[in-house]
Amino acid sequence: VEQKYKIATFGSHTALQILKGAKDEGFPTLLVSLKERKSFYRTYPFIDEIIEVSSFSQFPEIEEQLIEKNAVIIPHGSFVAYLGLEGNKKLKVPYFGNKDVLDWEGNREKQREWLENAKITMPKKFDSPDKVDRPVLVKSHGAKGGYGYFLAKGKKELKERIKSFPDKNYTIQEYIVGVPVFVHYFHSPLTGETEIMSADRRYESNVDGLGRVPNWELEPSYTVIGNFPITIRESLLPEVWDMGKRVIETSKELIGGGGLFGPFCLETVVTNEQKIYTIEISARIVAGTNPFIGGSPYSDLKYNEQMSTGRRVAKEIKLAIKEGKEGEVLG
Ligand code: AMP
Ligand code: AMP
Repeated sequence: VEQKYKIATFGSHTALQILKGAKDEGFPTLLVSLKERKSFYRTYPFIDEIIEVSSFSQFPEIEEQLIEKNAVIIPHGSFVAYLGLEGNKKLKVPYFGNKDVLDWEGNREKQREWLENAKITMPKKFDSPDKVDRPVLVKSHGAKGGYGYFLAKGKKELKERIKSFPDKNYTIQEYIVGVPVFVHYFHSPLTGETEIMSADRRYESNVDGLGRVPNWELEPSYTVIGNFPITIRESLLPEVWDMGKRVIETSKELIGGGGLFGPFCLETVVTNEQKIYTIEISARIVAGTNPFIGGSPYSDLKYNEQMSTGRRVAKEIKLAIKEGKEGEVLG
């Protein structure tokens, strides 16, 4: 059955994990790579074939080739980052996931509606600076990874700083003091099961380096450089698991095409009172799964083989082929 499709993705983000996992499940693999990264990716024997492009925006031009080769695309963070939401929706090559989810994920209001309907606790949102009564984070729309955000201790500081904020399309959110925990889940539409795969926190420049230069005045910034693996206090796990299940159940009611399935991530901040606030959902494989290419503490409990999130995706496609249900997992 594995010969029916080639598993393909773009060379960045979680491509190594995805293709290693596909090979471990018996699939032929294909990588779309930038010219300058080709010799690097060639050093990995689990990559069977490489198609070269000069930029990620050239992706639609090689789509015909991918279709002829029976490729199935596994979308990761670079797909939304470089092709955009519309670019993703336009892809005609078989794609693992439900594209109807993209609109719900890509819009802050819809995302909040989805998560609040799932009884997920989110930071309070303030409609106007006048109502602010606590520390807040101001986020411009479309800003990535905290770039262009600012923190204000209260109403007075907020009103002062908002005057010079370039983007008028912003969100004012309660600032949650706690530790970031990114939880990686996988939901199988075929078995109906939602599992916790792993968890991480990010290693970011320059916030994680500020302690090295104690006497300098520097603005914090949040460019992701890598990820740390973490495990979660076991007494919090049942709640974390239930949150993932509620997000899936609610997505079935709100979103067409059967809702969310496959890998997803809840970006949380956990407080001193062990209250879990969810900042955002990512509806695909996140790069925080990369520390777990050889399996995670949680996947080790469920599988007798090294089960990364990338491999879990390939396993699901294999099961779908066996059961004649490809239509349920490919968009
Ligand atoms: P890249 O292909 O490396 O440019 O990444 C595509 C998108 O995924 C960007 O928006 C990155 O910020 C995000 N990303 C890449 N690597 C990581 C990582 N290790 N952890 C979290 N996010 C990441
Ligand atoms: P975002 O671009 O919304 O994913 O936010 C970037 C990072 O800022 C997140 O990973 C969080 O660690 C942090 N963050 C975002 N919103 C809040 C909040 N309301 N309270 C505390 N930390 C936050």
